Amino acid sequence: RKIGYAIVGLGNYATNQIMPAFANCKDARITALVSGTPEKLAKYGAQYGVPDKNRYSYATFDRIADNPDVDVVYVILPVAMHPEYSIRASRAGKHVMCEKPMAPTSRECEAMIAAAAKAGRKLMIGYRSRFQPHNVAAIDLCRTKAIGDLRMIRTAHGFPIQPNQWRLDRKMSGGGSMMDIGIYSLQAARYLAGAEPVEVTAVESTDRRDPRFATVEDRVDFTLRFPSGLLASCISSYNSNHNEYRAIGSEGWVELEPATAYRGQAMRVRKGGETSTPNIDTSGPDQFAGQLDHFARCVRDNRMPIVPGEEGLRDIRIIEAIYRSMREKRAVSLA
Ligand code: NAD
Repeated sequence: RKIGYAIVGLGNYATNQIMPAFANCKDARITALVSGTPEKLAKYGAQYGVPDKNRYSYATFDRIADNPDVDVVYVILPVAMHPEYSIRASRAGKHVMCEKPMAPTSRECEAMIAAAAKAGRKLMIGYRSRFQPHNVAAIDLCRTKAIGDLRMIRTAHGFPIQPNQWRLDRKMSGGGSMMDIGIYSLQAARYLAGAEPVEVTAVESTDRRDPRFATVEDRVDFTLRFPSGLLASCISSYNSNHNEYRAIGSEGWVELEPATAYRGQAMRVRKGGETSTPNIDTSGPDQFAGQLDHFARCVRDNRMPIVPGEEGLRDIRIIEAIYRSMREKRAVSLA
């Protein structure tokens, strides 16, 4: 049977990207909805065939423990709510998929991991790019040394953010562009390098007179140093459009632009003095369905997901070091 997902939080990402993707899943289906808005429960309940008994408010959420239709709880709420709902879901005996960034602090990430472990249930973070075919191909090119030894990674992620939303309220978001979109630069640097950084240096530029940036940062430029000597130069921005990376090796480079967008990825590879645009097979499930099916199979076959809670924690620890480097204006060791 297909693994049943409860979707918690019926906002933009849940309703426009994740819920439609279940139509392309082989192993996952929507069986429950959780929302504070009765109209949304009625609308999406009808649209996705979720019966009344499987529609929950935040107040009745814990009763999900008694619902055998639900195997996985997928938390798609503002970041500050991730820990509470992930931990409540683990305590209800459910497996948890949680959106990125995992939580405002590494301490909360650790609590989420501990709750899942105590319940004997799995925890995965919604790092969809790991299931996106061009990204998978780029990782493979780096790993097989098709472009030689990696010398440098450059990556930039950003967008001009609209005012008046939870992302701009530090209490709800845990931080600014770095938490929300810079995390894609951080993830890309780490998955292309296939290693963990040992040191980070970060510089911030934020116009504090701009009302959007009263409590959160805009631009962060950060450099990750890897054990091999490889450096990754990364950009995070809430005021300019970027979605790209390039991994440069001793014998060529691979570039994606857009790199981590919802769709439309394009790849260029430079090798032997020639630049090509390899044809990547995208006939299979897209990154959204791929992510949902992956966790469903991990639950069914009792396997560890490729992006477990520990992977979310690693990013939050590095982001904490990035913030520290920004504040203290010095390199911070990640040893
Ligand atoms: P959103 O604002 O559109 O949705 C948030 C939902 O939470 C809304 O339905 C809102 O009603 C509900 N909510 C409940 N309590 C709330 C409260 N106190 N304050 C504000 N909202 C409250 O946001 P979104 O863009 O859908 O983001 C939700 C999560 O998904 C975030 O963690 C975000 O980082 C993540 N996300 C991931 C991706 C991705 O590509 N992986 C893309 C977008 C968002």
